[in-house]
Amino acid sequence: MSESSDNQPVDLKNLTPDALMQFLSGMGKEKFRTVQIMRWIYQRGVTAFADMTDLAKSFREALNQRATISSFTPETVEVSSDGTRKYLFRLHDGRSVETVLIPMESGRNTLCISTQVGCAMQCSFCLTGKYGLERDLTTAEIVNQVCAVRKDRSIDNIVLMGMGEPLHNLDNVVNALQILYAATGFDYGPRKVTLSTSGLVPEMAELGRRIKVNLAVSLNATTDAVRDELMPINKRYPLQTLMEACRQFPLASRQRITFEYILIRGVNDSQADAKRLVKLLHGIKAKVNLIPFNEHSGSELQTPDEQTIRAFQTYLLDRQIVAIRRVGKGLDISAACGQLKAKQLL
Ligand code: SAH
Ligand code: SF4
Repeated sequence: MSESSDNQPVDLKNLTPDALMQFLSGMGKEKFRTVQIMRWIYQRGVTAFADMTDLAKSFREALNQRATISSFTPETVEVSSDGTRKYLFRLHDGRSVETVLIPMESGRNTLCISTQVGCAMQCSFCLTGKYGLERDLTTAEIVNQVCAVRKDRSIDNIVLMGMGEPLHNLDNVVNALQILYAATGFDYGPRKVTLSTSGLVPEMAELGRRIKVNLAVSLNATTDAVRDELMPINKRYPLQTLMEACRQFPLASRQRITFEYILIRGVNDSQADAKRLVKLLHGIKAKVNLIPFNEHSGSELQTPDEQTIRAFQTYLLDRQIVAIRRVGKGLDISAACGQLKAKQLL
């Protein structure tokens, strides 16, 4: 993104390191200025050019004319009994976005960020999907979730699993990842960041070409008939097409694709499903996250009983498939998977 034609000030948080360098070279500034400014913005959390004390006063004033640095302050922070923290940020147009910090047993914190206000994909089990798509988040709005939460808690891992379909907002998501990865930005290694998609096949290939990131795919079914019902995107990119895209996705050695599989009672939780799942994953470096469905009033679907969940997991484990059971975190504050934005709906 570059300076807009109507000479509106540019929000520097919308610029990747390369774009920032171009912007500054347009002002006649040297390369190392990018490093200085990136550090002020991302490592020291500064939002006023006046505070960038190692820049000449005239340069700071010139920046003030042409640029801004946006920031988020949480409007509310809800804390779950399990320690999960849900932040609500108000956007400049009055819309809002939610971000969830999940403390892991290891003592590390995972931050779950949103990429859109709402989501267009209309998965039948997901409350965010019911809400529909309002708009994409800008690069700055994606990055600002991380900036704001870092002032409150340390963040070890980042997952793009909040509201929205990240690959439906690919350009801004890739820009945001570049800022997260930049040594002068947040310096997160690509191994620390996971992007989850409902399976937009052409965009998966595009993502793989453009940037490194851990990929998670919300699979949730083992037949097209069931997946069509749960996730309408499957009608466009059915299972075989999706699995082929996964096979083609570039992986580093020892890296795997995560397949998220919500277990729903009587829908996708049978032993026959487990058997088909093993077949589908054949030849893919995969691990499976089993997520017992989080029941909510927007859906009739139910979570399976304990025995069925265990039997499903055991079937996979017995066939050397890494299958981890995920527990719903932050359920009491509607911070769990698929529950973001729920309160406004109910
Ligand atoms: N749109 C992307 C990223 C959002 S991730 C995607 O779908 O992958 C949201 C995750 O929450 C998805 O893995 C989805 O399968 C899961 N989810 C949605 N509703 C849920 C529910 N009611 N119970 C459990 N998981 C749910
Ligand atoms: Fe969108 Fe993901 Fe929810 Fe489907 S599961 S509606 S893609 S957020």
